[in-house]
Formats: sequence, C-alpha cells, structure tokens
Amino acid sequence: MQRVAHIVGAGISGLSAAVRLANANFKVHLYEATQQAGGRCRSYFDSATNLTIDNGNHLLLSGNYHALAYAKSIGTDAGLVGPERAQFPFVDLTTGKRWQLDLGDSRLPLWVFDASRRVPDTTLRDYLALMPLIWSSPQRLVGDAIPCNGLLYQRLVQPLLLAALNVDPPEGSAGLAGAVVRETLLAGGQACRPLIAREGLSAVLVEPAIKLLQDRGSDIRFGHELRSLGHATDHVRELNFGEENVSLTPADAVVLAVPPRPAASLLPGLKTPTKFRAIVNAHFRCEPREDMPPILGVIGGVVEWLFTFPQRLSVTISNGDRLVDMPREELAQAFWRDICQAANVKDEMPAWQIVRERRATFEATPQQNALRPGSRTSFKNLFLAGDWTDTGLPATIEGSVRSGHRAADLILRQA
Ligand SMILES: Cc1cc2nc3c(=O)[nH]c(=O)nc-3n(C[C@H](O)[C@H](O)[C@H](O)COP(=O)(O)OP(=O)(O)OC[C@H]3O[C@@H](n4cnc5c(N)ncnc54)[C@H](O)[C@@H]3O)c2cc1C
Repeated sequence: MQRVAHIVGAGISGLSAAVRLANANFKVHLYEATQQAGGRCRSYFDSATNLTIDNGNHLLLSGNYHALAYAKSIGTDAGLVGPERAQFPFVDLTTGKRWQLDLGDSRLPLWVFDASRRVPDTTLRDYLALMPLIWSSPQRLVGDAIPCNGLLYQRLVQPLLLAALNVDPPEGSAGLAGAVVRETLLAGGQACRPLIAREGLSAVLVEPAIKLLQDRGSDIRFGHELRSLGHATDHVRELNFGEENVSLTPADAVVLAVPPRPAASLLPGLKTPTKFRAIVNAHFRCEPREDMPPILGVIGGVVEWLFTFPQRLSVTISNGDRLVDMPREELAQAFWRDICQAANVKDEMPAWQIVRERRATFEATPQQNALRPGSRTSFKNLFLAGDWTDTGLPATIEGSVRSGHRAADLILRQA
C-alpha cells in the first residue's frame, strides 16, 4: 500500500523532504501558509524595478553537496552557475585596493602556501592561527577561538563568517564557524566555487520542485496554515488548518518544516531559537558591464557583497538590524555610492528596490545554537525540518536541505 507523508511548510527544507519522499513513491501532501512556495528563498515581480527579483541574493558553494543534490533531483543543477574556478575578487573602498583570492581547483587548501593566491599582505602563519576554529565546540565564541583583528581577518575571515553566520563574527558560535570553514576553505577550491541561481531562486530551486511533485501526483495546498496538531500519546492523528481538518493514521508521517516561532506554538514545550537577525538586500536596475564578476566582496563600505545579474546589480548586507528602520531613500543612496566606487560606475541612481528580511536567520551564537532541536519529536510519526534545527551548520540552504533529507530518511527507515 502507498504510504502517506504530510509536509507542512514549502520552504527549501519542506520541498527537499517532499521531493525525496515523492521519489520514494510516497503519496505526498504539501501545505503552505502563504500563496507561494520558497519561504525565505523566493523570487517575485517587483514593479519599482520592473524586474523579477529575489528576496535576497543567495550564494551557494560547490561544496554544498546536499543543496546540489537537491537541485539535481529536480533537474536544475545546471541553473546554478558561477566562474570556472573558485576565485573571489575583492575591493577595499577605503584604500581603493583590489585583489583576487584564488582558491584554485584542488581538494586541499594548497592556496594558502602561495602568496600570489592568498589574501595580499598575509603570511602562512596568519592562516595557521585559524586552526583552533576547525574543531571548536559550538559553545565557544569565535572571538575566543581565533584572533579577530589583522589583515586576514578584515579581508577574508570577517566577510566570510559575517555572511555565513549573519552575526558579528566574534559573537558567533565557533563550532558553526568551524563547520563552514571545514566544508569550504579547508576543502580546497573544489568546494568553494561560487554558485548563483542566475535566473532567480524560484525558477531554479522552487518551481521545478513543485512541478516534480505535481507530476508525481502530490497534493499541494497553498493558503493552508497549520493551526494545531491533534495527537494521541505517541503519534499525531490530526492536522487542523482552521476550515479543514486532516485525519491521519499512525502510519502516516508528518514533517513540520515551518520556522521556529510557528513550530514552538504548534508544539508547546519545544525548544527553538528565539533570536533572529536581519539581512538587507537592494536591487538596482541597470545593464552591468560585461567584465563585472558575478560576485564582488566589498570591504570598508556599507555594502558587503555586490552581485551581478542580467539587468541588475544587487547588494547584500548581513547582520543588518541597524538598517531595518533607516529611511529607504537614504539607504539606497548609500548603497548606490558604494556600487559606483566598487564597480567604477558614474551613472545616476537607477530604479531600485530594497528588501529587508527582519528575521532572515536565527542568531548563530552559542546560546541560540544550543536551543536547536533534532529531527525527531516525542511523536513517532512527526519529524522536524528547517535551517534552525540542529543541522550543525548556520542557517543556510545547505542546512535546510540536509534537515529535509534527514527528516525524509528517518521516515523512509520506518517504512
Ligand atoms: C535575505 C536572505 C539571504 C540569504 N542568503 C543566503 C545565502 O546566501 N546562502 C544560503 O545558503 N542561505 C541564505 N539564506 C538562508 C536561506 O534562505 C534559508 O536557510 C532557507 O531558505 C530556509 O528554508 P526553510 O525551509 O528552513 O525555512 P523557510 O524558508 O522559512 O520555510 C518555512 C515555510 O513554512 C511556511 N509556514 C510557516 N508557518 C506555517 C504553518 N503554520 N503552516 C504551513 N506553512 C507554514 C512559511 O510560509 C515558509 O514558506 C538567506 C536568507 C535570507 C532571508
């Protein structure tokens, strides 16, 4: 008999669980509170720029193996594009200095031995000082594990960890930072090639998953917000969507792939992260020069990363709580000034849009990391997924997919 799985939440974690289970011949029911799938990783049409934009620029790396496997499973791995080699150009706006970090294409971090490929004016000793991060405990602070000053910190460690953890690096969890470093910088250039969904997040990571699920006969309901769970002692037996109740048998599996706040209200007593940080993105409609790199690291400005897309330049600022209440016009002007300097542009500010995601990620500090639950719950047929569950990584697409795959695998093992 065909087994049944109910997936609640159509973000990347819910979609990756749904796809894995549908491919294993489960009858999948997917419920999403809003009218659109993708959650914090989605595209939409923006009338200010007259373009389809993403809620935020999302960077994947070639070492994000679960994310790439997910893209492959929905047939869109070719839609994640980037340069041939793991090269990261940077500009420092305070000095005008430009350089390129060249991580090569090895499986080992051989680039640290080559002065022409590593960060300018750094020595091998600077890189060795990062070693304590590699196997740090999650309870330790980055600031207690490694030196958070000097040129290597300013030019590489700070931008990398700020983007990965979405907190000021010294206050971040050294264990989470160590996992990022192990899976990227330490794994050599092969794991660090930057990959971007050039045609948009929804076109590459979301809509093809919905299409695959529909083709497999899944039942997909938008505008379905789970309000409560009915349960017996050891299993969930009802999903309550307000107007509609769905009854389950003990053999039916449920994946709760919603953010921490709704998860905590649906499952009283569940420990979840309680603090979040913002990410701010801005999109400027223009025709980027052909020699613009897909991604440019910016030091010494408000802007931290500059992304080049067809018909637009987009910027990202992590740990952006200080920017969420600032006047939008003022922010746009500040971003455009940085872009002009970083990209050698002299044009008037074009049409723009600013997207401020207030609760972009949980705070990747030791305290908040300690509140992340695993996939299993006290109910035998209920599993958790989401970037905020205990994936061992900060809140990333890679973590979301891992959590979705893990929830699906636990269900498959029960089969
Ligand atoms: C601006 C920004 C930039 C980012 N940049 C990067 C990056 O460069 N690289 C990277 O790897 N990651 C990045 N991330 C993180 C990445 O987007 C997330 O880790 C990932 O999208 C989280 O997916 P999720 O499925 O875990 O959660 P969510 O995307 O939050 O999905 C949860 C879904 O559940 C739905 N839901 C909520 N409550 C209910 C309910 N009661 N019933 C039914 N449905 C419900 C929500 O509507 C949502 O669709 C970024 C995030 C943001 C916001």
